Amino acid sequence: MDTNLPGRKRIALVAHDARKDDMVSWAWEHRESLQQHQLVATGTTGSRLAAEVGLEVECLRSGPFGGDQQIGSRIAEGRLDVLIFFWDPLEAQPHEPDVRALLRIAVVWNIPVACNRSTADFLVSSPHLGVDYLRELPAA
Ligand code: PGA
Repeated sequence: MDTNLPGRKRIALVAHDARKDDMVSWAWEHRESLQQHQLVATGTTGSRLAAEVGLEVECLRSGPFGGDQQIGSRIAEGRLDVLIFFWDPLEAQPHEPDVRALLRIAVVWNIPVACNRSTADFLVSSPHLGVDYLRELPAA
């Protein structure tokens, strides 16, 4: 089975504390492209993107308070198309199980995921970003 990811993508943005400056500076660099899409973020990441980059972002709960799970649930429901997740590779997180679950569900549902800045650069410059993309779905 497959399903279409629409041309105007629904993009989730999440950054752990040590990666938030990187996320803000990356989003600033790509703000014109990001503005073409629908943006959703965990609470603190989203507030910073709105305040410092001027993006319109739907802010969910903060990650440690369920925001990662909210994003995972939207992916499972087919309501998100892309995940930009700058997780911290150097510090353990209190919500480590949620982080792992989010990465897992994004792979299960075969959506594009970027976990570092160079992959995120490749992703936003992909010809697939602004057009419909036929994605294969898991068999279940
Ligand atoms: P935050 O959540 O954007 O609310 O900080 C991100 C996370 O830690 O998962």
